[in-house]
Amino acid sequence: MDFAYDARTEELRAKLLAFMDEHVYPAEATAEEQRALLTSPWDTPAVVEELKAEAKRQGLWNLFLPDAEYGAGLTNLQYAPLAEITGRSPHLAPTALNCAAPDTGNMELLAQFGDEAQKKQWLEPLLTGEIRSAFAMTEPEVASSDATNIETRIRRDGDSYVVDGRKWYISGAMNPDCRIFIVMGKTDPDGADPRRQQSMILVPRDTPGVEVRRAMRVYGYEDHSHGGHAEVIFDGVRVPASHLIGEEGGGFAIAQARLGPGRIHHCMRLIGMAERAVELMCRRAVSRTAFGKTIAQQGVVQNWIADARVTIEQLRLLVLKTAWLMDTVGNRGAHTEIQAIKIATPRAVVDIIDKAVQAHGAGGVSQDFPLAELWAAARTLKLADGPDEVHQRSLARRELKKYL
Ligand SMILES: Cc1cc2nc3c(=O)[nH]c(=O)nc-3n(C[C@H](O)[C@H](O)[C@H](O)COP(=O)(O)OP(=O)(O)OC[C@H]3O[C@@H](n4cnc5c(N)ncnc54)[C@H](O)[C@@H]3O)c2cc1C
Repeated sequence: MDFAYDARTEELRAKLLAFMDEHVYPAEATAEEQRALLTSPWDTPAVVEELKAEAKRQGLWNLFLPDAEYGAGLTNLQYAPLAEITGRSPHLAPTALNCAAPDTGNMELLAQFGDEAQKKQWLEPLLTGEIRSAFAMTEPEVASSDATNIETRIRRDGDSYVVDGRKWYISGAMNPDCRIFIVMGKTDPDGADPRRQQSMILVPRDTPGVEVRRAMRVYGYEDHSHGGHAEVIFDGVRVPASHLIGEEGGGFAIAQARLGPGRIHHCMRLIGMAERAVELMCRRAVSRTAFGKTIAQQGVVQNWIADARVTIEQLRLLVLKTAWLMDTVGNRGAHTEIQAIKIATPRAVVDIIDKAVQAHGAGGVSQDFPLAELWAAARTLKLADGPDEVHQRSLARRELKKYL
């Protein structure tokens, strides 16, 4: 077993680490200052466009996409350590590299299931970073962790489909650059197979009947840098029938395919967030003194730091193993491991960030350090992309099957 990264990964890691030091970290404060001066807080600060241009120039672009025709052609194992690095600045770096959710999942989906016209119209401008996109599945009225509950209707009418429904927590949708929604709804709500009732359809933002109603907060944060999370109403929205992705009834399977890689990307970035938290915790702990010792000399803080290091190393190995399995036996073969990292990583990283908050005292919950926002972002991943309990249930069932 070889634990070293290969030459291409090492080369990209070195480049990306330098890009983070020279461009991304200094831009964190600039982005906030610029946002405060924008007409709308949902517009993109100029520094983000500068970062995108620089990343593109350096070849640090679309690294997430394994398909060499469209992206960098890296394996999951090669991309994992790079995504980890971007997770250290989760509100800027993934966007700078055109590797941010939900665009990544949407690009993968279009590359895999879109027809030539759909790829030309939507995948191409997403790949160049000209536009952003959103994925609209979750609904306020039903328990959406069970996708068979979705109530949005996609009704065929002549050469068109008509979409009616209400969605919320639709990431990226507040950003005016988000030009296209991939909407999941039911084309056959009474169909015998509950997993063949759903379809996916492309809905351009400017179609009459689409209303981006309000921004949903995350622990009080508006999450501007992610383009916000919106409540979106689709009221009699008519689109050409050619906007359907794949076939009628294929929506459930497409959603499953979309979420596999997305989950591993989130976990990789979470590990980067944990590394940033540990770094901040250590810097703070060695620089402040209480009761005659530095905070770092307190045994309890040393335990937090040691436990965090042990946990991060464990998580990274499991995430890398999962990436390797996805590359070698496919997403289906890596199902158990994908679920395992999706359960283990947010849970542990929330705890690591919480300890870093504690070590900072009041500063930890303040806007002067990124920790409070990192904590909120990590916490949401215990439910976004499938709540922990749903993954636990399915993983336990597969484990029990061996004994039944
Ligand atoms: C910041 C953020 C961004 C998001 N971005 C998007 C997006 O871009 N697009 C999108 O469509 N959605 C998005 N979501 C929504 C997210 O995917 C859903 O919240 C998630 O799938 C859960 O659905 P729900 O909220 O309806 O919870 P419910 O389905 O109502 O579940 C509530 C709780 O019930 C419990 N539960 C459910 N099923 C089981 C089970 N089988 N066993 C045991 N317990 C169970 C779990 O504890 C679960 O958390 C986002 C959410 C957040 C917070």
